[in-house]
Amino acid sequence: MSAGCGHHVDTSNVTKSLKRVLWAVLVINASMFVVEISAGVYAGSVSLLADAVDFLGDSASYAISLFVLSKSLRWRSGAALLKGLSMGAFGLWILGTVIYNAINTGTPVASVMGSVGLMAMLANLVAAFLLYQYRDGDANMRSVWLCTRNDVLGNIAVVIAASGVFATGSQWPDLAVALILASLALHASVQVLKQALGELKSTNTESPQTS
Ligand SMILES: [Zn+2]
Repeated sequence: MSAGCGHHVDTSNVTKSLKRVLWAVLVINASMFVVEISAGVYAGSVSLLADAVDFLGDSASYAISLFVLSKSLRWRSGAALLKGLSMGAFGLWILGTVIYNAINTGTPVASVMGSVGLMAMLANLVAAFLLYQYRDGDANMRSVWLCTRNDVLGNIAVVIAASGVFATGSQWPDLAVALILASLALHASVQVLKQALGELKSTNTESPQTS
């Protein structure tokens, strides 16, 4: 889980092939967001829903890289604000669902949780492989590595929750992992919001940007 995997993609001189890669990772992340939300609702698994928030945040980052990065700082901060707010709203919805499911007992479908968790891990590895080829300097390589590691750890946590649900026949492993992932997502959204608000403030006090 990160404040956004696409945050450090340098698009100051976007080549056609980098644009293609950004489109590919955007489609992968957006698809996995839809798949995990649908599977989470279908299987009654909150940890799958919580894992989906990161795909939402990353999709927003790649969309910003593709469509907004060439615009003014005000535009970028506005887009980041929207990203932070949507991640935060999803995080709060998931915390609410954790509480709701804790009261209304029911066991999630472990097989769906496990297979979709593995699919999400594969999607993150493919996206990382695509981005890795276009890494731009040490900082960027490090950011791709860090965010992939964190995302894959989240996916593995969902698979562990699935095994726990399967072994115990209880929903608690699902709720525990969901709680951890939702807290991380909320933390990430707060960081994104802080940075976006700080940038908006600085564009308000400064004279028009020349860069
Ligand atoms: Zn991520």
